[in-house]
Amino acid sequence: MVAPTSSTCPADHYCLTVVEIDRSTVWPYDEHGQPREFVYQRYGHPTGSEAERALGALEGGEALLFGSGTSAVLASVFALTEPGKTVALAEGAYFGTGVTLRELERWGLRVVEFDQTGSPPPADVVWVESPANPVLTVPDWGAVRAHRGRVVCDATLSTPVYLRALDEGADVVLHSATKFLTGHHDALIGALVVRDPALADRLREIRTRLGLTASPDSAASLLHGLETLELRMQRHTESATELARRLGAHPRVVNVRYPGLGGVISFDVEGDPIPVETATRLIRNQTSLGGFVSSMESRHRWEGDRIPVGLLRLSVGLEDVDELWADLESALAG
Ligand SMILES: *Cc1c(COP(=O)(O)O)cnc(C)c1O
Repeated sequence: MVAPTSSTCPADHYCLTVVEIDRSTVWPYDEHGQPREFVYQRYGHPTGSEAERALGALEGGEALLFGSGTSAVLASVFALTEPGKTVALAEGAYFGTGVTLRELERWGLRVVEFDQTGSPPPADVVWVESPANPVLTVPDWGAVRAHRGRVVCDATLSTPVYLRALDEGADVVLHSATKFLTGHHDALIGALVVRDPALADRLREIRTRLGLTASPDSAASLLHGLETLELRMQRHTESATELARRLGAHPRVVNVRYPGLGGVISFDVEGDPIPVETATRLIRNQTSLGGFVSSMESRHRWEGDRIPVGLLRLSVGLEDVDELWADLESALAG
């Protein structure tokens, strides 16, 4: 559990923090005309710094917030590469990461894909995702550590509750904090966590120069989310483990992928998955994942032929597991 940040909370007691949001874009210099800790919101702001301390403590590194997971992707690429450099990207990793990296091919970046359950090819940066969204493979950390390139690990689906990727050998941990870390579908926000102080400085510089800063309101949502992260992740895992087991025994389900942790399951149905995803009542038919409300969608609609036509990605929320199963069962029967 995150250490309470409120000074009124006794040290041996768990308190939900009341987050005060300072939405100022600018703060006065001191009486000598010198900048204080906060100057202009694009450089940093009090709510963001507090959320960075909380996330950094969970990951064991220095955290930097960004306006989205995607802007954290962009900052990583700018910090770790230059024209002519190669990124080896895990196959089946978050679709948007590949889209963003390929957008940068016009600026001289090279992108190769590889199977992250084996050894990465020669590259300046190895980009893994644990587990990969939505194919749910996990990287071979031994092979990753043996590689000479810098390592980025997108740990959005694990969260620091299940993975401390810096300890595994990653140089940069990336989060779409929009998902589990915030957990309530109310903030678009990303984060990077690093241990190398020079890399942290470079990322902060890029964030400021490119304007990739997270808003104070999003940072406050993240702070709230982190307070319940461990409990939520345990519940997501318990329910998803049970649903994966029941799905595996269902005659209409041909393939269940579940890595044993977290709230995301991908399973295949025979034929068209759209009638299944539109038939649920409790489980919302919408994109994204990681919230307290369950959601499900076909990923083929977004990702095309790299994803099986019948694949449904289910993000298991915090609802009662038997009610979720009843909903899935009736949708699969329809
Ligand atoms: C959603 C997601 C992203 C992108 O994050 P945004 O906050 O939507 O920009 C990156 N990686 C993974 C694994 C994701 O699920």
